[in-house]
Amino acid sequence: MGGYQGKILRVNLSTEEIKVEPLNDVWARDFIGGRGYAERLIYEEVDPKIDPLSEKNKVVITTGPLGGTLAPSSGRVMVVTKGPLTGTIACSNAGGHFGPALKHAGFDMIVLEGKAKEPVYLWIKDEKVEIRCAKHVWGKTVDEADKILRSETHSEAETMVIGPAGEKLSFIANVMFNAHRAAGRTGVGAAVGSKNLKGIVVKGTIPVKVADPERFMEAVYKAREKLAKDPVGGSALALYGTAVLINVINEHGGLPCYNAQDAYFNGANNIAGETIAERNLIRNEGCAACPIACGRVTEIKDGKYKGERGGGPEYESDWSLGSMCGVSDLDAVIMANYLCDRYGIDTISAGSTVACAMELYEKGYIPKGDSPIPLEFGCGEALVEAIRLMGNQDTPLGKLLAQGSYRLAEYYGHPELSMSVKKQEFPAYDPRAIKGIGLNYATSNRGACHVRGYTIAAEILGRFGGADRLRYEGKAALDKTLQDVTAALDSTGICLFTTFGLDVEDLAAMYSAATGFECDVKEFMKIGERIWNLEKLFNLKAGFTRKDDTLPERLFKEPIKSGPSKGEVVDREEFEKMLDEYYELRGWNKDSVPTKSKLEELGIADLL
Ligand code: SF4
Repeated sequence: MGGYQGKILRVNLSTEEIKVEPLNDVWARDFIGGRGYAERLIYEEVDPKIDPLSEKNKVVITTGPLGGTLAPSSGRVMVVTKGPLTGTIACSNAGGHFGPALKHAGFDMIVLEGKAKEPVYLWIKDEKVEIRCAKHVWGKTVDEADKILRSETHSEAETMVIGPAGEKLSFIANVMFNAHRAAGRTGVGAAVGSKNLKGIVVKGTIPVKVADPERFMEAVYKAREKLAKDPVGGSALALYGTAVLINVINEHGGLPCYNAQDAYFNGANNIAGETIAERNLIRNEGCAACPIACGRVTEIKDGKYKGERGGGPEYESDWSLGSMCGVSDLDAVIMANYLCDRYGIDTISAGSTVACAMELYEKGYIPKGDSPIPLEFGCGEALVEAIRLMGNQDTPLGKLLAQGSYRLAEYYGHPELSMSVKKQEFPAYDPRAIKGIGLNYATSNRGACHVRGYTIAAEILGRFGGADRLRYEGKAALDKTLQDVTAALDSTGICLFTTFGLDVEDLAAMYSAATGFECDVKEFMKIGERIWNLEKLFNLKAGFTRKDDTLPERLFKEPIKSGPSKGEVVDREEFEKMLDEYYELRGWNKDSVPTKSKLEELGIADLL
C-alpha cells in the first residue's frame, strides 16, 4: 500500500524503551490514518475512565497517508489522546511542516507512553531516535525552546514544543508546531507535559511513495486547479487570512461578544483581517504543499508593544481575544495572541476564559481583591495582563484562569457563565444566529468545536448549495454529513480549508491513488462515519450521555441584543427536535447510544 511508511514508533518514557512496530493494514484500510487510526489505537490501549494526566494516558502524534506527498495542503499533524480539558477522546490538528517531516523520517506516527523521570525531548532523524535531556529548556517559552532545540539538532529540522502552560498542566495548554502552528483544543499540551516531554524534533529524507504515481498526480493537478479558481481558497484566505471572517460573521449578527452577551460587535472592523493586512502583515506563511498559504507573520508597528512579532492572529484567536472580550484595540489583541503562542495556550479557550472572568468581575462574583487588575470588558491592557497571569500561573487567579472558563466560573459559583460544551469553550460563531453550528457544538465528540462539522460553509458562505442560517430544519443532516466528511478528511492528513474548493470526489480520488485502497465517495463517507462512531463509543465509556450534548444556558434564554440577529435565541424545543433527528440519522437511540445494527453496518460491532 502506498502513502504510508508502514512504521509506528513507540516510545515508553518511563522505561526509555524505543520500539518500531508495523502499521496495522486492517486499521489503515478501515480508519485511513491520522485521526482515525490513532483514535482506534487509543480506543484499544487507553481506558476511557482514566485521569488524562496520569501515566496511563497515551499520546499519539501522527499525520495521514497524504502527509508528505504533493497533495494540496497536506502538512497537517494531529495530537490524539484522552483530552485533559474535556475528558473526551481528543484529536487536535495543526498545520506547518512537522507532519510531512515525520513521514520523511520514516514513521506514520509516534505513540508516547509513561512518564519520563525528568524533562526530555525526542530527536528523530531518518529512523534514528534519541531521548535527550530537556532540563535546560524546561520553563522556556515555545519560541525560545524552538530555537534552542533546532540549534542543537538541525537548523532545518521541524519542531513540536510545549510551553510553560503545558509543563504546568494547564487544562487549556496546546502543542505548538514550528513555533506558530497550534494543536490547540482539548488541552493536549497538558497531556504531553504530564509525560515530562518538552518536545520532539524531526528531520528526514526518506521519500513517501504513492501506489499509482500517474493517477495520483492527475488527481493532485485537478485539485490544485479547482482550489486556485475558488474565491475563498484561491484568493480571500491568502489576501486577508482567516480573520477575513470577522466582518463577514459580524454582518450576519453571529460574532459573539462580551462573553456572548451579544453577537454584534461595533469594533469589528478594527480587528478584521483587512485591517491586520493593512497595518501588521509582514508576509503570508503556508504549511507544507499548500497553495492557499492562509498563515500570517505579523508585527506590531507602534505603541506599547512596538516591535513585537509573531504568527497570526487567526480568525478564532482574533475573535476570542477581541470581540469576545469586547476589545477592539488591535495591538492588544495581537499581543495577547503572541503571548498565548509563547506560553503554549489555546487561544480560543484563553480569550473565552478571559471574557468569562471579565463578566464574573464586572458582576462582582470575582472579588476585586482577587485580581491585580480591573478585569473590565473592552480593556486591552486587562486582556494582555490576564493572559500573562494565565501563562505564569504565579497567582491564585492565574492558576484558575489556566484551568479554563468552566472551572473558573464553577469556582466562583457561576458555571453558567462559561460559554462551553463538555467544558470546552465554543468558537467564534453564535448558535443563536447560526442554528446548525449550535447542533455541531453540542454533538462534537471533543467538546464545542467548529472544525468537526463546519456548517458555516453552508449557512454563511453558501457552499454545498447553501442553508438558511436561522432555520432548524435540515441542520441535523447537514451536521452529520459534514462531521463524517471531516473525520475522513482529517485522517488523510490534509487541511479542512481545501473543502472551500474541493469536493469529496477529489479527496477520495487522491486518497485512492496514493494508497491503492479503492475508495469512492460512499466508502469515504462510510469511513468518516465509522470514525465518528468510534469516538462516540469512547465517550460513552468515559461517562458522557445525552445530557452532555447541549449548549450553554445563555444561548437558550438570553436573546441577542443588537445587530442583524437581534432577538434570536436557540429555541429549546427546536433544539431537542434537531438532536432527536440527528441521533436517528446516525442510527443511535434517544440516549445517543449507537445501535448494534449501525455498528454492524460499520464493521465495528466488536468494539461494544
Ligand atoms: S490553508 Fe492555511 S492552515 Fe491549511 S494548510 Fe494551507 S496554510 Fe496551512
